[in-house]
Amino acid sequence: MAAESRKLFPFSNDFQELEDNMNPNSYLDKTFTVNDPDARIRQADLVQFEKYADGDQLPPGKKVGDVKLIPVGTEVRLTAALIGSGKRPFVFAEPAAGGAPFGWTAASNFRGRLVNETIGLVAASGDLAFQGTNRTVTDAHAFVRSGPPDFASTGEVLALGTFVVVTEVKNQFSKVSRGEAQEGEIITGDEFGWTRSSNLTDGWSNRFGPNAAWDDGKFIGQKDLVNIVGNQDQTEQVTADSLDHYLALAAAAKADGIVLSIESGFRTYDQQKFLFDHQHDPGFNTAAAPGTSNHQHGQAFDLNSGGFSGDPIYDWLKENAPALGFIRTVSKEHWHWEFRPNEANHPPGRFKRNGVNP
Ligand SMILES: [Zn+2]
Repeated sequence: MAAESRKLFPFSNDFQELEDNMNPNSYLDKTFTVNDPDARIRQADLVQFEKYADGDQLPPGKKVGDVKLIPVGTEVRLTAALIGSGKRPFVFAEPAAGGAPFGWTAASNFRGRLVNETIGLVAASGDLAFQGTNRTVTDAHAFVRSGPPDFASTGEVLALGTFVVVTEVKNQFSKVSRGEAQEGEIITGDEFGWTRSSNLTDGWSNRFGPNAAWDDGKFIGQKDLVNIVGNQDQTEQVTADSLDHYLALAAAAKADGIVLSIESGFRTYDQQKFLFDHQHDPGFNTAAAPGTSNHQHGQAFDLNSGGFSGDPIYDWLKENAPALGFIRTVSKEHWHWEFRPNEANHPPGRFKRNGVNP
């Protein structure tokens, strides 16, 4: 097995500068106040509750076996965050005044429910831009062929998505081996044989993975994602390149007494496929085919507006979002806004695309 080394570079990103400034854990250096009188402390599995045991100091009215609570009004610091079932966000709380930590509890137990706090980075990884030899099998019928001059099919097929290294090219065929990245180097593994070059796409990239972004039916690369506390006690995801733009919008709204939150942000290929496959089931809406949703490239945000004109959130967005780069792009959806600074506010005040109604 021959190994061949090359210097590698990650995929470039149009918004790299912004990513460098983002904070994927905004909750860390803040103080939060418990406002739910039933703020239960959970074990690390986020499912079972902590209970008072023999020897514990019991608060008034509590007995051994009762669920431990963080008293309402307690000021805490949060040192970690996790996402539980149903995308519910949980945090690890310690008394702001110092002392023994309380433990895990739901983010919704705090004043403001931690809405718009970022709770972790999901970094794009494992994918390498084209360096001259590293390519991905992107045809479902990529037959393995014998060598020249016949290039006869062996009947074997290279699995879709396989990362390969091209070791020789002849006519329209490429000789390929299994490819792998190890510590920043391309490793050339076992040889597969020859296949048509048209079965391969430049670079190593999982187009259907959790960080894969799509626009209008085309895979556009891997994006770093940030988990953010959304509306309805759910964790949503925002692409790192859009995060600052959304947070600027939310901060401007907050200054005017409006709490913006995300109902649906970035969606993975699998999440969009699920919505598409279930769109005719009760409780589901019409959904775009996977790869074609505006929620797969990071610029689209479903926000918490409650209606069109007359709804305070919608009215605020209509008035203020365009100057911050956001514009409505879908008819009948008062909640769907996209970060498109070249369209929004051009001409000044433009808050929706032509033809979008109402
Ligand atoms: Zn939407």
